[in-house]
Amino acid sequence: MDLKIKDKVFLISGGAKGIGESISRTLAEEGARVVIIDPSLEEGGKLMEEFESKGVEALHIPKRLTGPDIALEAVEKAYAKFGRIDGVVNNAGANDGVGLENGTPEDFRASVEKNLGHYFDLVHYALPYLKKNKGSIVNISSKTAVTGQGNTSGYIAAKGGQLSLTREWAVELLKYGIRVNAVIPAEVMTPLYENWLNSFDNPEEKLKEIEKRIPLGNRMTKAKEIADTVVFLLSERSSHTTGQLLFVDGGYTHLDRAL
Ligand code: NAP
Repeated sequence: MDLKIKDKVFLISGGAKGIGESISRTLAEEGARVVIIDPSLEEGGKLMEEFESKGVEALHIPKRLTGPDIALEAVEKAYAKFGRIDGVVNNAGANDGVGLENGTPEDFRASVEKNLGHYFDLVHYALPYLKKNKGSIVNISSKTAVTGQGNTSGYIAAKGGQLSLTREWAVELLKYGIRVNAVIPAEVMTPLYENWLNSFDNPEEKLKEIEKRIPLGNRMTKAKEIADTVVFLLSERSSHTTGQLLFVDGGYTHLDRAL
Protein backbone atom coordinates (compact mmCIF):
# COMPACT_ATOMS: atom_id res chain seq x y z
CA MET A 1 0.00 0.00 0.00
CA ASP A 2 1.40 3.40 -0.96
CA LEU A 3 0.89 5.66 2.08
CA LYS A 4 1.42 8.75 -0.09
CA ILE A 5 3.49 10.53 2.55
CA LYS A 6 6.61 11.03 0.43
CA ASP A 7 8.18 14.46 1.16
CA LYS A 8 5.54 15.31 3.72
CA VAL A 9 6.86 16.85 6.95
CA PHE A 10 6.09 15.47 10.40
CA LEU A 11 7.06 16.69 13.88
CA ILE A 12 7.76 13.96 16.45
CA SER A 13 8.28 14.91 20.08
CA GLY A 14 10.62 12.49 21.83
CA GLY A 15 11.50 11.12 18.39
CA ALA A 16 15.08 10.01 19.16
CA LYS A 17 14.44 7.09 21.52
CA GLY A 18 11.95 4.31 22.17
CA ILE A 19 8.55 4.51 20.49
CA GLY A 20 9.31 7.96 19.05
CA GLU A 21 12.51 6.70 17.42
CA SER A 22 10.59 3.91 15.74
CA ILE A 23 8.01 6.41 14.48
CA SER A 24 10.80 8.64 13.09
CA ARG A 25 12.43 5.66 11.34
CA THR A 26 9.16 4.37 9.90
CA LEU A 27 8.21 7.79 8.54
CA ALA A 28 11.68 8.08 6.97
CA GLU A 29 11.39 4.61 5.41
CA GLU A 30 8.16 5.77 3.79
CA GLY A 31 9.90 8.80 2.26
CA ALA A 32 8.64 11.45 4.66
CA ARG A 33 10.76 14.24 6.14
CA VAL A 34 11.07 14.16 9.91
CA VAL A 35 11.58 16.80 12.57
CA ILE A 36 12.69 15.24 15.84
CA ILE A 37 12.26 17.28 19.01
CA ASP A 38 14.24 15.43 21.67
CA PRO A 39 17.03 16.44 24.07
CA SER A 40 18.90 13.13 23.58
CA LEU A 41 22.06 14.38 21.87
CA GLU A 42 23.77 11.03 21.30
CA GLU A 43 20.76 9.07 20.01
CA GLY A 44 19.47 12.03 18.01
CA GLY A 45 22.90 12.61 16.50
CA LYS A 46 23.28 8.98 15.45
CA LEU A 47 19.84 8.93 13.90
CA MET A 48 20.62 12.08 11.92
CA GLU A 49 23.87 10.57 10.63
CA GLU A 50 22.01 7.44 9.58
CA PHE A 51 19.31 9.48 7.85
CA GLU A 52 21.90 11.58 6.06
CA SER A 53 23.68 8.48 4.77
CA LYS A 54 20.37 7.21 3.40
CA GLY A 55 19.42 10.54 1.81
CA VAL A 56 16.55 11.14 4.25
CA GLU A 57 15.84 14.81 4.92
CA ALA A 58 15.55 15.38 8.65
CA LEU A 59 16.01 17.95 11.37
CA HIS A 60 16.93 17.33 15.01
CA ILE A 61 15.95 19.98 17.50
CA PRO A 62 17.92 18.91 20.59
CA LYS A 63 15.60 20.47 23.15
CA ARG A 64 13.25 19.28 25.89
CA LEU A 65 9.73 20.68 25.50
CA THR A 66 9.45 22.51 28.81
CA GLY A 67 7.29 25.46 27.81
CA PRO A 68 5.52 27.16 24.91
CA ASP A 69 8.69 28.96 23.77
CA ILE A 70 10.43 25.69 22.87
CA ALA A 71 7.38 24.42 20.98
CA LEU A 72 7.19 27.67 19.03
CA GLU A 73 10.91 27.48 18.24
CA ALA A 74 10.54 23.89 17.01
CA VAL A 75 7.62 24.73 14.73
CA GLU A 76 9.37 27.82 13.35
CA LYS A 77 12.59 25.89 12.68
CA ALA A 78 10.68 23.06 10.99
CA TYR A 79 8.81 25.47 8.73
CA ALA A 80 11.94 27.50 7.96
CA LYS A 81 13.75 24.33 6.84
CA PHE A 82 11.01 22.51 4.96
CA GLY A 83 8.35 25.14 4.13
CA ARG A 84 5.47 22.93 5.21
CA ILE A 85 4.15 20.86 8.13
CA ASP A 86 1.80 17.96 7.49
CA GLY A 87 1.47 16.32 10.87
CA VAL A 88 2.37 16.26 14.54
CA VAL A 89 3.07 13.23 16.70
CA ASN A 90 2.80 14.11 20.37
CA ASN A 91 4.83 11.33 21.95
CA ALA A 92 7.28 12.66 24.55
CA GLY A 93 6.49 11.80 28.13
CA ALA A 94 7.65 9.99 31.25
CA ASN A 95 5.92 8.13 34.03
CA ASP A 96 7.32 10.12 36.94
CA GLY A 97 5.47 8.47 39.83
CA VAL A 98 3.82 11.45 41.50
CA GLY A 99 0.95 9.97 43.53
CA LEU A 100 -1.42 10.95 46.32
CA GLU A 101 0.88 9.62 49.01
CA ASN A 102 4.25 10.06 47.35
CA GLY A 103 3.92 13.55 45.90
CA THR A 104 3.01 17.09 46.89
CA PRO A 105 0.34 19.23 45.20
CA GLU A 106 3.20 21.13 43.58
CA ASP A 107 4.73 17.89 42.25
CA PHE A 108 1.33 16.92 40.84
CA ARG A 109 0.92 20.18 38.96
CA ALA A 110 4.46 19.96 37.61
CA SER A 111 3.91 16.37 36.42
CA VAL A 112 0.68 17.25 34.58
CA GLU A 113 2.37 20.25 32.97
CA LYS A 114 5.42 18.18 32.00
CA ASN A 115 3.36 15.45 30.33
CA LEU A 116 0.41 17.41 28.92
CA GLY A 117 1.40 21.03 28.33
CA HIS A 118 3.58 20.43 25.29
CA TYR A 119 0.89 18.29 23.59
CA PHE A 120 -1.21 21.48 23.40
CA ASP A 121 1.72 23.78 22.62
CA LEU A 122 3.00 21.90 19.56
CA VAL A 123 -0.44 21.59 17.99
CA HIS A 124 -1.29 25.20 18.82
CA TYR A 125 1.78 26.54 17.02
CA ALA A 126 1.69 24.05 14.13
CA LEU A 127 -2.01 24.62 13.44
CA PRO A 128 -1.69 27.40 10.81
CA TYR A 129 0.50 25.06 8.73
CA LEU A 130 -1.60 21.95 9.36
CA LYS A 131 -4.66 23.90 8.12
CA LYS A 132 -2.99 24.48 4.76
CA ASN A 133 -2.42 20.74 4.19
CA LYS A 134 -5.34 19.05 5.96
CA GLY A 135 -2.77 17.68 8.36
CA SER A 136 -3.02 14.81 10.79
CA ILE A 137 -2.29 14.63 14.52
CA VAL A 138 -1.53 11.55 16.60
CA ASN A 139 -1.37 11.68 20.39
CA ILE A 140 0.47 8.86 22.14
CA SER A 141 -1.28 8.11 25.43
CA SER A 142 -1.08 5.07 27.73
CA LYS A 143 -3.35 2.25 28.83
CA THR A 144 -2.81 3.50 32.38
CA ALA A 145 -5.20 6.35 31.47
CA VAL A 146 -8.07 3.85 31.47
CA THR A 147 -6.84 1.20 33.93
CA GLY A 148 -5.01 3.30 36.52
CA GLN A 149 -1.62 2.21 37.87
CA GLY A 150 -1.35 3.53 41.41
CA ASN A 151 1.07 6.14 42.80
CA THR A 152 1.24 8.16 39.60
CA SER A 153 -1.60 10.72 39.61
CA GLY A 154 0.23 13.35 37.57
CA TYR A 155 1.20 11.11 34.66
CA ILE A 156 -2.25 9.46 34.59
CA ALA A 157 -4.06 12.82 34.64
CA ALA A 158 -1.95 13.90 31.67
CA LYS A 159 -2.49 10.61 29.79
CA GLY A 160 -6.26 10.84 30.35
CA GLY A 161 -6.17 14.47 29.26
CA GLN A 162 -4.45 13.42 26.03
CA LEU A 163 -7.36 11.10 25.22
CA SER A 164 -9.92 13.83 25.93
CA LEU A 165 -7.96 16.33 23.85
CA THR A 166 -7.94 13.83 20.98
CA ARG A 167 -11.76 13.90 20.91
CA GLU A 168 -11.91 17.65 21.53
CA TRP A 169 -9.46 18.53 18.76
CA ALA A 170 -11.06 16.04 16.36
CA VAL A 171 -14.28 18.05 16.76
CA GLU A 172 -12.65 21.49 16.69
CA LEU A 173 -10.59 20.73 13.60
CA LEU A 174 -13.28 18.98 11.52
CA LYS A 175 -13.83 22.22 9.62
CA TYR A 176 -10.24 22.16 8.36
CA GLY A 177 -10.23 18.47 7.43
CA ILE A 178 -7.54 17.85 10.07
CA ARG A 179 -7.81 14.40 11.64
CA VAL A 180 -6.82 13.69 15.24
CA ASN A 181 -6.36 10.23 16.72
CA ALA A 182 -4.71 8.64 19.74
CA VAL A 183 -2.58 5.51 19.90
CA ILE A 184 -2.49 3.74 23.24
CA PRO A 185 0.43 1.43 24.05
CA ALA A 186 0.55 -0.80 27.12
CA GLU A 187 3.83 -2.74 27.37
CA VAL A 188 6.60 -1.77 24.95
CA MET A 189 10.33 -2.36 25.62
CA THR A 190 11.95 1.08 25.42
CA PRO A 191 14.61 2.88 27.49
CA LEU A 192 11.79 4.30 29.66
CA TYR A 193 10.27 0.86 30.20
CA GLU A 194 13.64 -0.75 30.89
CA ASN A 195 14.34 1.83 33.63
CA TRP A 196 10.99 1.02 35.22
CA LEU A 197 11.62 -2.72 34.98
CA ASN A 198 15.03 -2.32 36.57
CA SER A 199 13.40 -0.74 39.62
CA PHE A 200 12.20 -4.24 40.64
CA ASP A 201 14.37 -6.67 42.62
CA ASN A 202 14.12 -9.28 39.88
CA PRO A 203 13.44 -7.55 36.54
CA GLU A 204 13.56 -10.79 34.51
CA GLU A 205 10.95 -12.43 36.72
CA LYS A 206 8.76 -9.31 36.52
CA LEU A 207 9.03 -9.23 32.73
CA LYS A 208 7.97 -12.89 32.45
CA GLU A 209 5.00 -12.19 34.73
CA ILE A 210 3.89 -9.28 32.52
CA GLU A 211 4.40 -11.14 29.22
CA LYS A 212 2.26 -14.03 30.48
CA ARG A 213 -0.66 -11.60 30.84
CA ILE A 214 -0.47 -10.21 27.28
CA PRO A 215 -3.11 -12.20 25.38
CA LEU A 216 -1.76 -12.02 21.79
CA GLY A 217 1.43 -14.06 21.70
CA ASN A 218 2.35 -13.58 25.38
CA ARG A 219 4.90 -10.98 24.40
CA MET A 220 5.58 -7.27 24.61
CA THR A 221 4.34 -4.98 21.83
CA LYS A 222 7.21 -3.94 19.55
CA ALA A 223 7.86 -0.21 19.15
CA LYS A 224 7.64 -0.83 15.39
CA GLU A 225 4.08 -2.14 15.82
CA ILE A 226 3.11 1.13 17.49
CA ALA A 227 4.96 3.11 14.79
CA ASP A 228 3.22 1.33 11.89
CA THR A 229 -0.19 2.21 13.33
CA VAL A 230 0.86 5.82 13.95
CA VAL A 231 2.20 6.25 10.42
CA PHE A 232 -0.98 4.77 8.94
CA LEU A 233 -3.03 7.28 10.96
CA LEU A 234 -0.81 10.12 9.77
CA SER A 235 -1.32 9.09 6.16
CA GLU A 236 -4.23 9.74 3.82
CA ARG A 237 -4.86 5.99 3.86
CA SER A 238 -6.78 6.59 7.07
CA SER A 239 -8.66 9.52 5.49
CA HIS A 240 -12.00 8.86 7.23
CA THR A 241 -10.64 8.03 10.68
CA THR A 242 -10.76 10.74 13.32
CA GLY A 243 -11.32 11.05 17.06
CA GLN A 244 -10.33 7.40 17.55
CA LEU A 245 -8.51 5.93 20.53
CA LEU A 246 -6.59 2.91 19.23
CA PHE A 247 -5.17 0.36 21.65
CA VAL A 248 -2.10 -1.30 20.12
CA ASP A 249 -1.41 -3.72 22.95
CA GLY A 250 -1.98 -7.34 21.93
CA GLY A 251 -5.36 -7.24 23.67
CA TYR A 252 -3.78 -6.45 27.05
CA THR A 253 -6.29 -3.80 28.10
CA HIS A 254 -9.54 -5.37 26.92
CA LEU A 255 -9.31 -9.13 26.48
CA ASP A 256 -9.87 -11.63 29.24
CA ARG A 257 -6.48 -12.15 30.88
CA ALA A 258 -7.49 -15.63 31.97
CA LEU A 259 -7.18 -16.64 28.29
P1 NAP B 1 11.44 6.80 26.21
O1 NAP B 1 12.05 5.49 25.97
O2 NAP B 1 11.82 7.53 27.45
O3 NAP B 1 11.65 7.76 24.97
C1 NAP B 1 11.07 9.04 25.03
C2 NAP B 1 11.99 10.08 24.44
O4 NAP B 1 11.34 11.35 24.62
C3 NAP B 1 13.34 10.19 25.16
O5 NAP B 1 14.35 10.43 24.23
C4 NAP B 1 13.13 11.39 26.09
O6 NAP B 1 14.37 12.03 26.41
C5 NAP B 1 12.26 12.27 25.22
N1 NAP B 1 11.49 13.24 25.99
C6 NAP B 1 10.91 13.09 27.20
N2 NAP B 1 10.29 14.22 27.57
C7 NAP B 1 10.49 15.11 26.56
C8 NAP B 1 10.08 16.43 26.34
N3 NAP B 1 9.35 17.12 27.24
N4 NAP B 1 10.43 17.04 25.19
C9 NAP B 1 11.15 16.38 24.25
N5 NAP B 1 11.56 15.11 24.40
C10 NAP B 1 11.23 14.48 25.55
O7 NAP B 1 9.82 6.63 26.28
P2 NAP B 1 8.84 5.60 25.52
O8 NAP B 1 8.67 4.40 26.35
O9 NAP B 1 9.25 5.46 24.09
O10 NAP B 1 7.48 6.42 25.63
C11 NAP B 1 7.00 7.24 24.58
C12 NAP B 1 5.53 7.55 24.86
O11 NAP B 1 4.79 6.33 24.95
C13 NAP B 1 5.29 8.31 26.17
O12 NAP B 1 4.27 9.27 25.98
C14 NAP B 1 4.80 7.21 27.12
O13 NAP B 1 3.94 7.73 28.10
C15 NAP B 1 4.02 6.32 26.14
N6 NAP B 1 3.88 4.93 26.63
C16 NAP B 1 4.92 4.05 26.64
C17 NAP B 1 4.71 2.75 27.09
C18 NAP B 1 5.80 1.72 27.10
O14 NAP B 1 5.51 0.55 27.42
N7 NAP B 1 7.03 2.04 26.75
C19 NAP B 1 3.45 2.36 27.55
C20 NAP B 1 2.42 3.29 27.53
C21 NAP B 1 2.63 4.57 27.07
P3 NAP B 1 15.00 11.75 27.87
O15 NAP B 1 15.26 10.27 27.96
O16 NAP B 1 16.22 12.58 27.90
O17 NAP B 1 13.95 12.20 28.86
